[in-house]
Amino acid sequence: MREASTLPTRTGGDTALRDRGLVWHPYAPLNGPAPYAVLGASGVRLSLDCPDGTSAEVVDAMASWWCAVHGYRHPALDAAAHRQIDDFSHVMFGGLTHEPAVALAERLVAMAPGPMAHVFFADSGSVSVEVALKLALQFQAASGCPGRQRFLTVRGGYHGDTFAAMSVCDPVDGMHSAFPGVLASHVFAPRPPLARLEVNDGHEQWVTDEAEFDQWSREFRALAAAHASELAAVVVEPVLQGAGGMRPYDPRCVRVMRDVADEHGMLLVADEIATGFGRTGRLFACEWADVAPDVMCVGKALTGGYLSLAAVLMTSRVGAAITESSFGALLHGPTFMANPLACAVASASLDLLADSWAADVARVGSGLRAGLSAALDLESVRDVRTVGAVGVIQLDRAVDVPAITAAAVRNSVWVRPFRDLVYAMPPYVCTEDEVATICAGMVAAVREVHP
Ligand code: PMP
Repeated sequence: MREASTLPTRTGGDTALRDRGLVWHPYAPLNGPAPYAVLGASGVRLSLDCPDGTSAEVVDAMASWWCAVHGYRHPALDAAAHRQIDDFSHVMFGGLTHEPAVALAERLVAMAPGPMAHVFFADSGSVSVEVALKLALQFQAASGCPGRQRFLTVRGGYHGDTFAAMSVCDPVDGMHSAFPGVLASHVFAPRPPLARLEVNDGHEQWVTDEAEFDQWSREFRALAAAHASELAAVVVEPVLQGAGGMRPYDPRCVRVMRDVADEHGMLLVADEIATGFGRTGRLFACEWADVAPDVMCVGKALTGGYLSLAAVLMTSRVGAAITESSFGALLHGPTFMANPLACAVASASLDLLADSWAADVARVGSGLRAGLSAALDLESVRDVRTVGAVGVIQLDRAVDVPAITAAAVRNSVWVRPFRDLVYAMPPYVCTEDEVATICAGMVAAVREVHP
């Protein structure tokens, strides 16, 4: 059992003050709400300097945007990073290779759903999506279909903030209106209908409205058929739409996408950046549907949240088509491709996952199910849902983000709500007590701010 707190007692400082007006934060204006300054991070806890001058120790319900699955300062990950720094931190990947990259690639293809054969390392999730889309276009061109230059996806998706990734994000919520005329135009099917994963005595069952599912399947199939000759790939977050609304959907929809891709000569690109490495209760969310994608993106939890690294996995069919094409190569090659430090930490992170992810995710999931149900008593709460180690409170209004954040911090929890959602995607290593703290803090914050 970990100590309740191993955080340093360092306090104070003017970091947050110096930050303001100088450093941009995600989706925030320069004069936005004052940030909290992190003084230390250990286990599942952050030590914070708060804008009101107080300090706080909080359980991180966000796992730093879903990636710190083993918590902070994990001895095995710290040791892997130290070992690799003592060896070498970075070398270019053009013409050179190194053990951390090869060892990690071997592990990734071995654990992936379906017969993945090749790995392209990218430096962030968004860049891996760029690479996957490029890959699909190159594959089609190499296969004699250079006219297939659009993608089929669903509304409500999120795939990253770079231009090609943005172009397959939800067209309404996904910043398309900010860049008129710049983003490529793709084909959007309706959102897959919301489904519930019910768990009774360890038995899991997806519950979906059958009529909604049938209608969605029909519409998806019809759209694919209508645009088939111009479509390169289906691009999707399997089973859980994350930043697009924390919406789980029926794995049968992923099966439909696989079938449609096969019927119409498209690739299936699975964006497992958020869902990969156990988050939904399967090692990869595609496994819920028993589907093997042609191309798969992973990131976020890949390094246990230590460093930015993502990977694009692909089948031998895709790799061979590109290799034998006139390009010969996949046309991408970032400076920090396969950064050895990130690869070494990622392998150590996968070691930790292998031992325990299934039991950990089950424990966190059952804690979230038990603890968040109290939110259903609140009038402002429209829905409470969980899948794997994800717990969501959906309100009937937009969340007052600064007020909920402050109230959760007063209740010893760090959350970062968005739109109408207050949610948790905690580190897998949270104990039952820590998950209970997260749930109690989330419910108390919602009760206080949006009774
Ligand atoms: N795809 C999905 C499904 C994501 O959730 C995210 C990040 N939230 C991305 C892509 C982009 O990853 P990154 O922020 O590392 O660029």
